Amino acid sequence: MAAFSLFLNFLYPPRCFACGMRFGAAEERRVCDACIARVERMPEPQCNICSGPLESVVSGESRCARCAAVRPHYRKARTIARYRTSAEDQPGTLPALIRRHKYGLDQSAGRAIAEYLGDRLPVSSADYDLIVSVPLHWRRLWWRGFNQATLLAEEVARRLQLPLDAVSFARRRSTTSQTARDHDERIRNVRRAFVVLYPERIRGHRILLIDDVMTTGATVNECARTLIAGGAVSVDVFTLARVL
Ligand SMILES: [Zn+2]
Ligand SMILES: [Zn+2]
Repeated sequence: MAAFSLFLNFLYPPRCFACGMRFGAAEERRVCDACIARVERMPEPQCNICSGPLESVVSGESRCARCAAVRPHYRKARTIARYRTSAEDQPGTLPALIRRHKYGLDQSAGRAIAEYLGDRLPVSSADYDLIVSVPLHWRRLWWRGFNQATLLAEEVARRLQLPLDAVSFARRRSTTSQTARDHDERIRNVRRAFVVLYPERIRGHRILLIDDVMTTGATVNECARTLIAGGAVSVDVFTLARVL
């Protein structure tokens, strides 16, 4: 650890990003063990397309009802953790972290999220040529100062040693919040919201698309549709968490 950052840690003792617990001055971590231990995994068995819960396992069928009815444009979606939006959330859980990350301006959140990812990603570098993050509209990016999906994508790109393209894919329409919408409304809300600006950089590539949280999958599905229309060979999705 560089002397200067040790000095900074002395002045401002590092705290767990999620629960606020103080670390020692020499600590480089941003999330404590207790908070890491509280990360809730997705329940099994899972849909082999969207990783959502399977209501029942019929022989040979491992798709959830929604993926069986309409196959998504992405091949598969993988996630690290379950995201609960209900009131029983404790401070220090993954939702608490993401919420701060989403609405705060603390850039060290990128590092905290890297620690939440753990050692092993549920995706492998051999399957992809390029990493793309779900874009924010420029106005929201300007207001917020950073795109949390891109912070996560930077970390995933670093680990998989794959290039990240954060400019070729853009949001052309500022969609209103998805939070209070049902699935059909979400689909209408994001339709044609994205655009491939530089098709030559997307064409022929197997893309790993990154977002922080997946809710119904309407946003990542519309991204996948647009990227494939723009020439991508395939799109898989990786998110930090998924709402259930
Ligand atoms: Zn903690
Ligand atoms: Zn599914």
